[in-house]
Amino acid sequence: MKTVTISKERLRIHIEQLGEIGKTKDKGVQRLALSKEDREATLLVSEWMREAGLIVTHDHFGNLIGRKEGENPSLPSVMIGSHIDSVRNGGKFDGVIGVLAGIEIVHAISEANVVHEHSIEVVAFCEEEGSRFNDGLFGSRGMVGKVKPEDLQKVDDNNVTRYEALKTFGFGIDPDFTQQSIREIGDIKHYFEMHIEQGPYLEKNNYPIGIVSGIAGPSWFKVRLVGEAGHAGTVPMSLRKDPLVGAAEVIKEVETLCMNDPNAPTVGTVGRIAAFPGGSNIIPESVEFTLDIRDIELERRNKIIEKIEEKIKLVSKTRGLEYQVEKNMATVPVKCSENLINSLKQSCKELEIDAPIIVSGAGHDAMFLAEITEIGMVFVRCRNGISHSPKEWAEIDDILIGTKILYESIIKHI
Ligand SMILES: [Zn+2]
Repeated sequence: MKTVTISKERLRIHIEQLGEIGKTKDKGVQRLALSKEDREATLLVSEWMREAGLIVTHDHFGNLIGRKEGENPSLPSVMIGSHIDSVRNGGKFDGVIGVLAGIEIVHAISEANVVHEHSIEVVAFCEEEGSRFNDGLFGSRGMVGKVKPEDLQKVDDNNVTRYEALKTFGFGIDPDFTQQSIREIGDIKHYFEMHIEQGPYLEKNNYPIGIVSGIAGPSWFKVRLVGEAGHAGTVPMSLRKDPLVGAAEVIKEVETLCMNDPNAPTVGTVGRIAAFPGGSNIIPESVEFTLDIRDIELERRNKIIEKIEEKIKLVSKTRGLEYQVEKNMATVPVKCSENLINSLKQSCKELEIDAPIIVSGAGHDAMFLAEITEIGMVFVRCRNGISHSPKEWAEIDDILIGTKILYESIIKHI
């Protein structure tokens, strides 16, 4: 195999330059989908794509696509992707490093004149973050045929519909023709994505990168416990039906259940709780709290949810409460392909990089691509696990390692 050099300097400069577009006053980045800043970023990234030897187009979901044709263009392509939109006042690495690594990999392939059978596509997906139309993973969802007509009618803060935003963005995007941009099973051989971890695991355990085993699917619930309101001074403890104490018992059980198996990545969170009527001298009549349970194994997640529901039932019975459990959302966890995990492991071995297998707690474009192809993901360590903030930071050396690992794997599949 020819020796190929991934240029650390070019990668670093690209990250820096892209970070200048939509730069906020506290040095964060704000590039909402299909905005003026997004257009500027699109133009710059398109230029880098061309320099790398990619042909640049847009599909009708607003996805920016660079393609380098293989020797056999009828074969399914190998795709590398992520996003260049950001949350409000976010960081300059989230999404960006995946797209720029993809471009850098193709640049290296082009420079070394590597002959490849399969075409390579580098994609910056439209509105991954959902910070403009409150509806994330739009481009990747569209590409796999999961966008509904009403998704195009979502409006931003200025009442502009996504349809209008797409229609006026240019680059040949026409939301009336989204059907033409849907990819089918068999169109894409593999999908690779590199992303910052957005969590503290890699840094805490001293790894530059990690190989993702899967993306945990969140399930959201609203729990309501109803007891009896009363005077905080006059109702004796033994006669109370206090739903807040009941909720406390349930919440403790959520923690216990999610920590039960130290090897499982299960996480459970109660992020919001409210007591009604909410007076410091009133025993609450009712309590509402949210529940967010995530796991990579659907069965394990469901079992934990079942046990939480049992606990709610038991607590309600012993305390004389009524209860309601409302399911708001449940996303199926997505597994990365064993084939690609092994391939990434092999690349780590070859480059003598020690990389753990980790779970993604956050959603990524790869999640939807998994509907039509095998996915493989690499996580890059980020400082203090911070993301979606101007404080977000990833070291160029770690990004370089991730890019090289990805390169080594991709080269074997094209
Ligand atoms: Zn992201």
